[in-house]
Amino acid sequence: MRRVRCTDGLCVNRFYGGRAVTVKVLVPISGGKDSQACLKLAVQKHGADNVRGLFCDTQFEHPLTYQHVEKLRTLYGPLQIDTVTGGSVLEKCEKYGRFPGGGARFCTEELKIWVTRDYCARLAAYNGANFEVWYGMRSDESPERNKRYAGKVCDELYAPHEVLPGKYPKYLARMGVLFRLAILHWTTPEVFDFLEGQHNPLYNPREDGEEGFDRVGCFPCAASGDANKEKAFKYDDFGRQQAAKVAIVSAKIGKSIWTSKGGKARNEVCALVCGD
Ligand code: SF4
Repeated sequence: MRRVRCTDGLCVNRFYGGRAVTVKVLVPISGGKDSQACLKLAVQKHGADNVRGLFCDTQFEHPLTYQHVEKLRTLYGPLQIDTVTGGSVLEKCEKYGRFPGGGARFCTEELKIWVTRDYCARLAAYNGANFEVWYGMRSDESPERNKRYAGKVCDELYAPHEVLPGKYPKYLARMGVLFRLAILHWTTPEVFDFLEGQHNPLYNPREDGEEGFDRVGCFPCAASGDANKEKAFKYDDFGRQQAAKVAIVSAKIGKSIWTSKGGKARNEVCALVCGD
């Protein structure tokens, strides 16, 4: 199967040479368990030929996550998974002069939402039929998500702007793009059970007893808590490389990635004293 890394937003057109194709379900894939559950469910229901994956590469992912996305191409397939990128997390931090956090999720916006929006619009133009986008949000992930999706159900279709108001434009629904929250009420154990051990290995405890990660995506999510960032930066060689890259950007923009007093004390003081 021909694979496409798209940086100019034309992969849908280029991949098919303008020929009309039919996708019934598009699944945005992060390399984490929830989007994988949506992918597996979509293939069970519609068959691999009618399902497409979309991986928005933030260029800040762990090598095991990239390997896992590769594995998904054949695990339930053969399955077409297109990779798109709108740049990298650290580029966006330099552009905005800060790290993401609180309400400032500019990297999610530019690297995930905008590229998914543009991809959906292009696919809608070439698909020749409406299609569904299956998102893996779950109510039990956080009280905030529980509140945000209150009243929504997994077997309804919603206009994109109804699911994420202000993030997705109304024109997508008019183009025939509808969202389904396919595993909205699943619990975390139910997701892992459904994946039958075929999840991203970053969730697993390591042989030396180091705990796995609760969430998988950017390594680490720069907007996550300090404990999670510390764990990732110390996790392995890749984590240490990420820490070094972040330190360079931090010096450039004059902002710290650490948000708690303890995180700053443990990491910034140590860096000054030990050169760590
Ligand atoms: S996971 Fe975190 S770092 Fe990555 S795009 Fe989302 S907010 Fe930004």
